[in-house]
Amino acid sequence: MNVLLVYAHPESTSLNGSLRDFTVQRLQGAGHTVQVSDLYAMNWKAVLDADDAPQRDPSQPFHASLDSKRAYAEGTQAADIAREQEKLLWADALILQFPMWWFSMPAILKGWFDRVYAYGFAYGVGEHSDSRWGERYGEGKMKGKRAMLVVTTGGWESHYSPRGINGPMDDLLFPIQHGILYYPGFDVVPPFVVYRTSRMDEARYAETTAELGLRLDELWSARPIGFRQQNGGEYEIPALTLKDEIAPGLEGFSAHLR
Ligand SMILES: Cc1cc2nc3c(=O)[nH]c(=O)nc-3n(C[C@H](O)[C@H](O)[C@H](O)COP(=O)(O)OP(=O)(O)OC[C@H]3O[C@@H](n4cnc5c(N)ncnc54)[C@H](O)[C@@H]3O)c2cc1C
Repeated sequence: MNVLLVYAHPESTSLNGSLRDFTVQRLQGAGHTVQVSDLYAMNWKAVLDADDAPQRDPSQPFHASLDSKRAYAEGTQAADIAREQEKLLWADALILQFPMWWFSMPAILKGWFDRVYAYGFAYGVGEHSDSRWGERYGEGKMKGKRAMLVVTTGGWESHYSPRGINGPMDDLLFPIQHGILYYPGFDVVPPFVVYRTSRMDEARYAETTAELGLRLDELWSARPIGFRQQNGGEYEIPALTLKDEIAPGLEGFSAHLR
């Protein structure tokens, strides 16, 4: 299988750097082919702007989504965007690895999605009608591929528990796992989270990599998170609210889980 590891940490001697190297070796050892997009090492341009559509008419106002649509359709996107899209199409699985920074991914990784997920590639795909609202949330160009997050945090596991002060980890990761990965069709397997990284030592690192290794071995067999398909009959279209008989009484993120 082909695996794309998109990695966002500025220091290769960090804990994240060690976990990245472990991941690559484990996957290659199992016979998989791995490409790493090491965003800091690539000096990845994080901000989406007019330079991403180099052939656009500069006399007209820049429109982030419409210029993206035109550049994608006409094959005139910035070269770094097109290269990352090729890697996504090549991959059978995508792993995103990052330290949690301010309750989300580092800006450089968010900028990777802002730019690589072009209109026509990751969104704005498919027919809109009474029974379908585009190919998204379970359908789309990434259908049939898997995705997994590998995240490190300073906070303790209890801080991210259901009644923890930081909010539940599943809720914090929902916008990434549901809004960014499931949206264009990835099957998202449960995240691998390393909490309380300041307490890492050699013994714990050995335990952590043993667990991560098993999760990587199960990347293709693990049961994906059971997000509901947008066009699967459970949502009103075009309101895109859950039908009254689906998960009655449930609201918020968990209502969108089977
Ligand atoms: C801007 C910013 C925002 C942040 N926001 C949040 C937040 O919202 N929520 C939150 O919980 N945390 C937050 N943090 C903390 C952050 O998530 C952690 O600092 C990060 O996850 C640690 O990962 P690292 O790779 O940088 O670890 P490092 O600092 O490189 O290492 C952590 C520990 O692991 C040890 N270590 C490294 N490699 C190995 C190895 N191979 N074997 C054994 N031990 C090793 C190191 O010696 C160190 O003790 C934030 C940090 C920053 C800078």
